Amino acid sequence: MTIKDTILKLQEELRRYNYEYYVLDNASISDFDFDQKLKELQDLENAHPEFKDANSPTQRVGGAVTKNFETVVHDHRMYSLDNSYSKSDLQDWESRLKKTIEGNISYVCELKYDGASISITYENGALVKAVTRGDGFQGDNVTANIKTIPTVPLKLKGDYPAKFDIRGEIVLPFKGFEKLNNERIALGEEPYRNPRNTASGSLKLQDSSEVAKRPLECLLYNITGRKLDIKSQDESLDLARNWGFNVPDTAKLCVSIDEVFDFINEWDEKRKELPYETDGVVVKVNDLDQQEMLGFTAKAPRWAMAYKFKAERVSTKLESITYQVGRTGAITPVANLKAVELAGTVVRRASLHNADQIEKLDIRIGDEVFVEKGGEIIPKIISVDLTKRAIESVSLVYISNCPECHTPLTRAEGEAQHYCPNYNGCQPQVIGRIQHFISRKAMDIDGLGGETVALLVEEGLISNYADLYTLKKEQILPLERMADKSAENLISGIEASKEIPFERVLFALGIRFVGETVAKKLAKHYINIEALSVSTVDDLVAVDEIGVRIAESVVDFFGSVENVRVLDCLKSAGLQFELSQEKLSGLSSKLEGLSFVISGVFESVSRPELKELVEKNGGKIVGSLSSKTNYLIAGEKMGPSKLQKADKLNITLLKEVEFLDMIK
Ligand code: AMP
Ligand code: ZN
Repeated sequence: MTIKDTILKLQEELRRYNYEYYVLDNASISDFDFDQKLKELQDLENAHPEFKDANSPTQRVGGAVTKNFETVVHDHRMYSLDNSYSKSDLQDWESRLKKTIEGNISYVCELKYDGASISITYENGALVKAVTRGDGFQGDNVTANIKTIPTVPLKLKGDYPAKFDIRGEIVLPFKGFEKLNNERIALGEEPYRNPRNTASGSLKLQDSSEVAKRPLECLLYNITGRKLDIKSQDESLDLARNWGFNVPDTAKLCVSIDEVFDFINEWDEKRKELPYETDGVVVKVNDLDQQEMLGFTAKAPRWAMAYKFKAERVSTKLESITYQVGRTGAITPVANLKAVELAGTVVRRASLHNADQIEKLDIRIGDEVFVEKGGEIIPKIISVDLTKRAIESVSLVYISNCPECHTPLTRAEGEAQHYCPNYNGCQPQVIGRIQHFISRKAMDIDGLGGETVALLVEEGLISNYADLYTLKKEQILPLERMADKSAENLISGIEASKEIPFERVLFALGIRFVGETVAKKLAKHYINIEALSVSTVDDLVAVDEIGVRIAESVVDFFGSVENVRVLDCLKSAGLQFELSQEKLSGLSSKLEGLSFVISGVFESVSRPELKELVEKNGGKIVGSLSSKTNYLIAGEKMGPSKLQKADKLNITLLKEVEFLDMIK
């Protein structure tokens, strides 16, 4: 046998032992023998570096040090999940599904593992990269660290596709967490708070050999890629298992929402015996064609739903309430609590939302209250322990003036929130608005942070976001902790933001209720700020998905003399107030007012591309055929029932080329 063959054989053997031990939990060799063989392979590889392989089992021990993790754009976006909390939430979800899907829907129920999500890419059976979720569009390249996790296969077995991404969760089982903490305590270090944060922190350790020492596990649940011949979620889990992945066998196929609910009830109890944390169940439509028809919202797939288990609850004393003023002037009461441990973290504050909620709960200072922690970071007050209420306690009186600028608060009819109407003179509003303006999803001004904004306002250097564009280096240098270099970065960051496209500028303005998606819609519809600024409530509500609340807020915004003045300054500063030529060229209104159903498979375009083409040209995609549908874009392999229905409803059929001609 040549050296190369010996190396290959050892790699192969160790890979198998590893899989048997970590994934199948069924070792066929002693630890000692395993270590011997690993050592032998390491020595051989070191002596013959020409046969080294980035995916050899010897790479598990780590060693690579990453100073800065490279940012990588995901080939396929990593979405979030919508949440539900009751059986009726799930039933509502199913009713929504049935608007798009005719016939039966089966579901796969999986546990929702509480860790750090990861997307791992395999090409020709070899692990090529592993990227954290990040913001869903791009994440950090943590490949070296992921390779040290024994349940992540470096090479696959069986009949796998040439290229795909697999998604899963990196978790730190309780036992390993405890062990890690005991070691830390022994070294006099602070113990870690909870397994989830420790797992995600581990992925960002610079030294991969440190990661190798942590008993992390990778649980996989989703395969993503182009042209994969897979029909269902159920099948994809089986396939992934066959290729050597660690797919928990707790997943179950359910044929009705009732069965889904049985699964949830069963696991709400049984999960307490699992070696790692779970915070719910993820329910997924099983059939991948159905999934495709359902598609995604801006944040999450429509075909999946997380069910959150009831959270842990403790009681503690409400010591006081403080009122915060947000960037829109909204007042948020915050409860200050006697510190208490809840689900692994120390809780000192809870949000109370608004006056109505305080009234409804009849919360009083000094009360003993029940606090619960769901998925959100800030815990909630659920109720008051009336048995412990002091006799002399008095009802809480909500504030009537702004805690910052003392202006009398207002509350619009039908709204729960109180507002401070002092738009231009209330400091937290002024600061909050500028902080929103510079934030990453808005103008993304490099070199300028929230604290500096506060400082600039407090020092009287700026009083609105347009003032940023008149700032001079000499003005900001005297600020605390402002070095020459950082002052320069700040100025050049502001300069660079002049290139930010119109839709983001619109979002950055901080018009109430105009979030990212609405800003995009408005930019696309009105093309420039002039057209938008003279639009009426009626014009606005005629735009798809714009409601009265948004429309009124937009009209209000442009009705303010001060806002118009600030906008003029921004315009003279050279910001983008018009949709770029590039975006414009992709748009037409040829299909305005028409609705389309897409069915079957197509030759020159994919279904998502078709959908985009329809929407870019002003048309609308609807889920199923009705008398209001104008066209059915019919591909190959379309079901006969669809054809009959279209015929009966007198809907015009379009072949692929006919449709493409239509928008030419
Ligand atoms: P959330 O962060 O609350 O929006 O929930 C979405 C996250 O749940 C995903 O990004 C995954 O990291 C995680 N997750 C855990 N288990 C599963 C599962 N079985 N299927 C899908 N996502 C899961
Ligand atoms: Zn105020």
